[in-house]
Amino acid sequence: MFIGGPSRGLFLLYLAVFDVIVVGGGIYGALLSRDLSFYQGRVLLLEKESDVGNGASGANSAIIHSGYDPLPGTKKALYNVRGNAMYPGLCRLLDVDLKKIGSLTVSFDEEGNKKLEELKKRADTNGVEARIIGQPELASLEPSLSDKALEALYCPSAYIVDPFTLTAHAMENAIDNGVELHLLEEVVHLEKKDGHYLVRTNNGEYESRAVVLLAGGHNEVLLKELGEEGYGGKARKGEYYVFDHFNPDFLKHVLFPIPTSKGKGVLVTPTTSGNYLVGPSSEFTSDYEEVSTDELTLKEVKRMAQELVPSLPFNEQIRVYAGTRATSEKGDFIIGISKENPGLFHLSGIDSPGLASAPALCEDLVKEIVSYLDLKKKDSYQKGVKPYCRPLKMSQEEREKFYLEHPKYTKIVCACEKVSLGEVEDVLSRSLPCLSLKALKKRTRAGFGKCQGGFCGPNLMPLIAKKLGIKEGEVLYDKAGSQVSVMEVRKDED
Ligand SMILES: Cc1cc2nc3c(=O)[nH]c(=O)nc-3n(C[C@H](O)[C@H](O)[C@H](O)COP(=O)(O)OP(=O)(O)OC[C@H]3O[C@@H](n4cnc5c(N)ncnc54)[C@H](O)[C@@H]3O)c2cc1C
Repeated sequence: MFIGGPSRGLFLLYLAVFDVIVVGGGIYGALLSRDLSFYQGRVLLLEKESDVGNGASGANSAIIHSGYDPLPGTKKALYNVRGNAMYPGLCRLLDVDLKKIGSLTVSFDEEGNKKLEELKKRADTNGVEARIIGQPELASLEPSLSDKALEALYCPSAYIVDPFTLTAHAMENAIDNGVELHLLEEVVHLEKKDGHYLVRTNNGEYESRAVVLLAGGHNEVLLKELGEEGYGGKARKGEYYVFDHFNPDFLKHVLFPIPTSKGKGVLVTPTTSGNYLVGPSSEFTSDYEEVSTDELTLKEVKRMAQELVPSLPFNEQIRVYAGTRATSEKGDFIIGISKENPGLFHLSGIDSPGLASAPALCEDLVKEIVSYLDLKKKDSYQKGVKPYCRPLKMSQEEREKFYLEHPKYTKIVCACEKVSLGEVEDVLSRSLPCLSLKALKKRTRAGFGKCQGGFCGPNLMPLIAKKLGIKEGEVLYDKAGSQVSVMEVRKDED
């Protein structure tokens, strides 16, 4: 693993040659690299941010949809349903929290009921288990749902997942099998040279036999560098509220309104961490990097969420955030296997249900890449990662024994999310580096709670600084230039 590639000075002497260069470290880059890591060949993943999973893959609703919504016959329908079925096995191997809680798509009037019939037919055609339920079953399944709800499409096969650990552990697995990762390295130019691709970044230049563009909304620009046609990509922003852990039994399912042309609508859902998410909005925006939130949009999100669950306690809301979806003109996923540029692959227009579809789409694209390069399976490789030690999930007897043997797991560094020093040290010792407080937060949940890092940040900064061999004042929150402490605030008394 490198943080950044060869420096410009070294470049003249050294041009690294790879079999595959993957551009973008979202869930697609991480999973595709993992699947490729089971094969022989030198693979490099280039990610412009300080961590993997900082784009759409870290700012979504974290639902592994059942697949009732995509139009039959589309790639979205095919890959959503296949991906959903792959998730339990994948999450077991990658030690990722996944819960099958089912979804309810709720109607409040006759028109909504008709739409549910249509969705039920789609579900049947897509091969998704679904049934329409009415009152009083609806109220007994989800007591906090509005009493104005008439009917709902119940799909038991919807899951919620921890999207942060999913991307991180897919990448860790890939690195453990030999994939190279360069963080903070942005691809700025692509060209063909003697049958290979020349990939120029802000930090160096590489040659590769194949290039896979998994840069979300940034694919369009990179494809045009190689003379490829664009796909009419547009960014669609979604804003959310995050709630605290106020009552683990408040909601039991993912709750959707009736979908519209803008998407699946404002949902209300538990997360795998036991808190709740409300959102997203859905508006086109000019820039994939634009993830600000605004009062008017959030007010509308709140109004729509309260139609589903009037008793949502907004005083328990602790944070807002936004993510952008990379949409395509055609409204379906694009699997790009270039004829004009052999060895150039891309997945574009991967908006929702992109998370649910990722394992299946990556599986198919890897088959194409492996066949193009004629790569052979390795004799040995790891299919998963070393699981985290999670004392809070152990029985009391197991936990007491574990604490005696591992006292660092009794020292709490994040009180809101009850994260221990042992857990933080485990994460920092792994092959996927943690270059920022945000990366550590996504791996351990330290900083995700009510204080939003206000209290635990000062406990975590020295641990990151020590691991990276830098000063505490140099520790980043996230992007370059986001140092948290700008001056020394405390001096020990003599
Ligand atoms: C608001 C919202 C809600 C969603 N909810 C769901 C859901 O509940 N269920 C579901 O199935 N799907 C959902 N999705 C869709 C899902 O999140 C995406 O389809 C998926 O995360 C796309 O992953 P990706 O790897 O293609 O893109 P990203 O995660 O965006 O990764 C692309 C990466 O490429 C990097 N990059 C870009 N340009 C360059 C460059 N030049 N050089 C190097 N690196 C570069 C970026 O920094 C980024 O890390 C949602 C999306 C959004 C935005």
